[in-house]
Amino acid sequence: MKCPFCNFQESKVVDSRPANEGISIRRRRECLSCHKRFTTYETMDTLPIVVVKKNGNRQSFDRHKLVNSMLRACEKRSISLSALESAADAIEQELHNELGGEISSERIGELAMGKLKNLDEVAYVRFASVYRKFKDINSFLDELNKLLHEREK
Ligand SMILES: [Zn+2]
Repeated sequence: MKCPFCNFQESKVVDSRPANEGISIRRRRECLSCHKRFTTYETMDTLPIVVVKKNGNRQSFDRHKLVNSMLRACEKRSISLSALESAADAIEQELHNELGGEISSERIGELAMGKLKNLDEVAYVRFASVYRKFKDINSFLDELNKLLHEREK
């Protein structure tokens, strides 16, 4: 890794710690020539996550889309973007851990619902209503009742 200050090729690692929920490693390096310090991030070369949509189409997992869909559900709620970002990190990590390499879009929706449930109940119900495409008011109420029931426990 070239030093960004003097372009010298060699450096030593002075500190190394997991970053981004363990997805990458952050390294502090010191240039062996000018002794200035800089930071590098190492990420595992993981296989892309393939999402299988309801109609059978496949596309690669789009983290951005996931964050946006959660963000929509959180409109006017006091949930920070960083909370959603870390929820998305956790979901991405879980997807990487699942075997098979192909994940249904439903599964991702379920994971997102699980995270939102812990963050904000209103956001959760909104997300669920879009995601599960509640056919009628009854299925919507069912979901609400489930939520209330869990809260009582
Ligand atoms: Zn240097």
